Amino acid sequence: MITQSSDLKVLITEEQIQKRIASLANEINDYYNGEEIVLLCVLKGAVMFAVDLAKHLTMPVKMEFIKLSSYGNGTTSSGQVQSFGTHLEEINGKNVLIVEDIIDTGLTAEFLINYIKEKYTPKTLNFCSLLNKKETRKNSVEPDFYGFEIENKFVVGYGLDDMGYKRNLPFIGYKEV
Ligand code: 5GP
Repeated sequence: MITQSSDLKVLITEEQIQKRIASLANEINDYYNGEEIVLLCVLKGAVMFAVDLAKHLTMPVKMEFIKLSSYGNGTTSSGQVQSFGTHLEEINGKNVLIVEDIIDTGLTAEFLINYIKEKYTPKTLNFCSLLNKKETRKNSVEPDFYGFEIENKFVVGYGLDDMGYKRNLPFIGYKEV
């Protein structure tokens, strides 16, 4: 039987992901010290991460969602990003924590941070990414919080897709080439 994970090597196990998310949530709990936050989850890749992270947060939490689209060849970022006409007035005056699946070139993060600052008036704005590919960064954007630093591999699973598939895998894997 061919399964979604037959061609993958495991990079980060389900257990490692869950353990790190619990400790990352503690860092976030300490940082905000009980103040209310809005988790702004970037669809679709950050869904699994945002949901699991939210379960460990102890302050009052709201969840909002934003969808971006980038146009590239699927495995590399083109740097062109569009956001859909989401109405996020809910984040005005709030501590906003953007929750992303991965920072690669950093262009998406930069776009999103500028977009939010232009359109809305959050009290504070921070960025949390599950994965951080430092080698491939094309700007100086760094996440305020991140789960794992990884090398330059195209990873899938736990929200990250391979042509739309494999987001549901509970671990993070990569294709050996
Ligand atoms: P950046 O703009 O930082 O280059 O890329 C951010 C977006 O590119 C991520 O939100 C994700 O959608 C996609 N991306 C970057 N690297 C990977 C990867 O290794 N695997 C997958 N599935 N998507 C990636």
